Amino acid sequence: MNNTSQFHPDETMLLEFSAGTLATAPSICVSAHLHFCSKCRNQLLRLDQVGAQLMSEAKPLELEDDAFDAVMANLDNPEQAPAKSDVKVSRFPFSVDKLMKNNLVSQTWKRLSGSVDVARFETGQDEFEVALHKICAGGKTPKHDHQGLEYTVVLKGSFSDENAVYREGDFLIREPGDVHQPMGAQNGECICLSALSAPIKLTNPLGFLMKPWLRINPM
Ligand SMILES: [Zn+2]
Repeated sequence: MNNTSQFHPDETMLLEFSAGTLATAPSICVSAHLHFCSKCRNQLLRLDQVGAQLMSEAKPLELEDDAFDAVMANLDNPEQAPAKSDVKVSRFPFSVDKLMKNNLVSQTWKRLSGSVDVARFETGQDEFEVALHKICAGGKTPKHDHQGLEYTVVLKGSFSDENAVYREGDFLIREPGDVHQPMGAQNGECICLSALSAPIKLTNPLGFLMKPWLRINPM
């Protein structure tokens, strides 16, 4: 598919994804983004090749094979994805599809506010809440303050906030303390995948010093 994403995971995240060390919830979001973004898929392939090269220089051959298999298992196999060139996205990324079929706690949307519905996933880990959010056309969400780290991938439609318009495939990270007010596009509903870390209360007056640590281990 043509690459329309303007917001991408950074190289560190892709590197961790490639190495299989990225946590489950952000991995689901990266995987969903890769479904839409050929630029990041290509970058990931390069990182995989570099990783495989390093492994082959440092380790016996069988480890190289294992590592490559592990990386490939992490990928949504983008080379075989049906939506490769000009096909419009007609379904959610494989990782999200799988979650919806197997792990959705509630098969129905639950009303979160006047404009927002939510459907939560059971992912087998409790560091992040992984969910789909649906904003109705033109819907305004309440202005909110992020208590924890949040990853968001737009799966369908678009939304905007004070800073930009976010379209299908866009990958966003909200840091604790970010305040924003997303608004659904006027021309249709918007569905986003999000992974929100457990709320973090920074009571230490020097709490901002903990931020670099939070970036590494956002519990
Ligand atoms: Zn990308």
